Amino acid sequence: MTDHHLASRLIGPAILATLLAAIPLAAHAGQGQHRSGELPAHPPVPTLRGELRQSELSVPVPIPTPRPERPKEPPEAEPKPPAPGKSTGLPKRERTCRAALTALGIDFTDKAPIAEADGCAIPHPIIIRRLSRTIALEPEALVNCRTALALARFFVDQAPSLAKRHLGQALHSVHHASAYVCRPRRGTQKLSEHAFGNAFDIGVFTLTDGTQVPVEVQKDPNGKAAKFLDAFRAAACGPFKTVLGPGSDADHGDHFHLDMKARRNDHAFCR
Ligand SMILES: [Zn+2]
Repeated sequence: MTDHHLASRLIGPAILATLLAAIPLAAHAGQGQHRSGELPAHPPVPTLRGELRQSELSVPVPIPTPRPERPKEPPEAEPKPPAPGKSTGLPKRERTCRAALTALGIDFTDKAPIAEADGCAIPHPIIIRRLSRTIALEPEALVNCRTALALARFFVDQAPSLAKRHLGQALHSVHHASAYVCRPRRGTQKLSEHAFGNAFDIGVFTLTDGTQVPVEVQKDPNGKAAKFLDAFRAAACGPFKTVLGPGSDADHGDHFHLDMKARRNDHAFCR
């Protein structure tokens, strides 16, 4: 039985005829045969927004002209750091001090200013490697110029004769225990004079024959070393504003502490 016969039996011949007449195209739509005028041969294809059509592509697109180049500015000249060893731009007092050091035969190197957050500071520090033309310093020491000059004067004018008299020979070198150190005084909140490059600790004297004289309480208080150390310590009080050593307190049993702390009436504290 065909579909038509089945349909006519189900819904009646008259209704079927009406339905069939109304859908002539639908019965052939799947075969790809379109009668002219009934369906457009090429239905319009929607263009997506933003797509360029062929006609639009043919329009010449203006090419942006490059901006004229700005004339190049000359690079900024960077300030030159001062050459090491050159004492330029220093206050007069510092320049005078350096001239005096040079006159005594002391080589030095200027260093960058020290200014630590906790207050330790040397505005114009120097490094010294000798205490006189003939007395070496080991290791090199970072101090302010005033302290360096006090050391140089003492080791040029006084220390050689003390060594000759009590030890019978010349000093070859001095080993220092500390110079600039950013620290408070032991047991206090107050900064040490070392924190300002204002202090210098002597640990050991070495003589020209290699003999070492450590700064400590001597077994023989009447021996050469003891006499030299006592004489040195006494002579240093005055040229240096603080002199401490073995016997002063527990902190100075193995070195002489010399510093340039300013006191009223230029008073020196020696113990
Ligand atoms: Zn010290």
